[in-house]
Parts: sequence; C-alpha cells; structure tokens
Amino acid sequence: MNSLFELIPALAKFVASQNRYIDPKEIEVARRTLPLPGLMRVLGDERHISQVLIDSPFHAPGTAAFRIRSEGQSRKRWFYFCCHTCGKRGDEIDYLRIRFSLAREVAEAVFVLIAKIILP
Ligand SMILES: [Zn+2]
Repeated sequence: MNSLFELIPALAKFVASQNRYIDPKEIEVARRTLPLPGLMRVLGDERHISQVLIDSPFHAPGTAAFRIRSEGQSRKRWFYFCCHTCGKRGDEIDYLRIRFSLAREVAEAVFVLIAKIILP
C-alpha cells in the first residue's frame, strides 16, 4: 500500500462534504488522464494489472480471478472483470467504489480529484 491508497478515505470524506455535482465531461477528461491501469498503479494495486486472469483485489487472496481489458477502437475504454466469485465488471469509478466501499457520486468526485493531482 502506498500513501495515496491510504489517503482515499479522507479524500472521500472531503468530497462528500462538498456535495458538488460532477459533470460527466469531467469524468471523461479524468479517464483520459488516468485510465484504469493508471488508476490501479497510483493506488499501489499494480500487482492486479493483468489481461490474463490473476488474483482479485476485491476478495481474499486466492479466492477470485480478475483481469482488465480495453474495449473500443477510437475511444478506448478500460474495464475490469472479477470472475468466479461475484462476476462483476466495471470501469474506473466502479473500481474506486468497490475497493473503498464508496457511493457512486463520491467515487466520481474522488476519481476526478485524483486525476487532477496525478501527473500523466
Ligand atoms: Zn469478485
């Protein structure tokens, strides 16, 4: 775990207290700066970045398989797939939501904020 991972709960509390509406365009900009593999890297989750099945960051070690994949041609988007246990799929927002048990609006605001403070 690195320090950014440890800061997320405090950032989440802060953005939740601001109650600010996040424009979908801000999320699109954040996705270009910090696509899923980059987000996972800055959170210290790089050991889970794989396009072949690997241990899931959402479950106890050795209990679920996980992989990430990009989809689309001109506007490439990244998704994760968590298999065997929950069968869930998601994007950067879902990753933050599940990893830190955040509400969707809070996860969106945290994602936009992280993307602004991380240098590409
Ligand atoms: Zn799962």
